[in-house]
Amino acid sequence: MPSLPVPSTRSASSPEPFQQDPARGRVSSPGGERFTVVPVDFIRRLPEAIRATFGERTRDALYRTGYEWGLQAMAQFSARLRAASPGGQEVWRMEAKNILDSWWASFATAGWGTCVFDLGGIARGLVIVELRNSAVVAALGVTEQPVCDLYAGLFAGALSFCEREERHAVEVQCAAAGQDPCKFAVGPGADVDAVETWRQKGDGPADILRRLR
Ligand SMILES: [Zn+2]
Repeated sequence: MPSLPVPSTRSASSPEPFQQDPARGRVSSPGGERFTVVPVDFIRRLPEAIRATFGERTRDALYRTGYEWGLQAMAQFSARLRAASPGGQEVWRMEAKNILDSWWASFATAGWGTCVFDLGGIARGLVIVELRNSAVVAALGVTEQPVCDLYAGLFAGALSFCEREERHAVEVQCAAAGQDPCKFAVGPGADVDAVETWRQKGDGPADILRRLR
């Protein structure tokens, strides 16, 4: 099972949700998911390490990494849910808000921040995600551009699995650039492309989100 990195940003006083088994080299959630604990410095150095190979495509590489991670994480979450439900119910037949909230709970526990999923546009495949306490923002600090490409990929991958249709994502505003919370638009490629077009025309995040809705 691909592991879920746990950035060490949790408060030392918060309850310890992980079970440690040093003899087997395992850190697991109460639900049995295996985790990998990494220092925040790992996230801080990730872009520069990837840049050595991908150069200008670094942000895209981070997005694609997040996408595969989100796809696999949601597939595993779905399998656990199916195994636990009496009728073996599939994830895409369940209420999307509950699925996303439950899926993200492990990420929140692991220090990846808290999310609110706005499904007001789900009928046309559009989800707006608000993210607070991004681990990437915590690691990279103040920047001029959105930096949460890993998260954008995560959300796109997870929603692609849930919707059983290719979804794309873009970070519309980022706390690293002084616009807290980070906000993402996740949806069909045409919607995400439109966000880029509006942004290049100079539209701000509030205008873009209003146009999307
Ligand atoms: Zn961000």
